[in-house]
Amino acid sequence: MLHLEFNSESENEGIARIVTSAYIMRFDPDMEEMEDVKTAVSEAVTNCIVHAYFDENGKIEMDISDKEQIVKIEITDHGCGIEDVDKAMEPMYTTGTDGRSGMGFSFMEAFMDELTVESEPGVGTVVKMTKKIGTGCAM
Ligand code: ATP
Ligand code: MG
Repeated sequence: MLHLEFNSESENEGIARIVTSAYIMRFDPDMEEMEDVKTAVSEAVTNCIVHAYFDENGKIEMDISDKEQIVKIEITDHGCGIEDVDKAMEPMYTTGTDGRSGMGFSFMEAFMDELTVESEPGVGTVVKMTKKIGTGCAM
């Protein structure tokens, strides 16, 4: 189990990716699994930075744990929260202005085995994702 807390600065998104890849390394992931998990983390952390906290600085928490090669990643912010989670998770739905495509949640859903999003306006958002790693057979 790993708990990490960092500021909502864009440089920290890369650090979150690196920590995640270091954590899952022990499960001998193939390249695709590695990329999938890193991309999902990157999308979730970016959402905290650009949506939850806008241009404020806030804390982002990342918890990673595992059980029987199923890696669970939780990304928590204490930012603005989401009014309608089902709507926010629809492909191409975005409240962003600067060329966002509204595909972040769709990527997380596609690249991970499970995705749940819990949010409360004014309180914050928790994104939980799981993925089984290291099940591919070696060539
Ligand atoms: P993209 O990820 O393609 O750049 P996007 O961030 O708008 O675009 P999603 O990641 O799918 O798309 O998120 C959809 C919408 O959900 C966002 O536009 C935003 O309104 C809301 N949202 C997502 N994450 C958060 C969060 N942590 N806090 C507040 N709102 C969020
Ligand atoms: Mg996004």
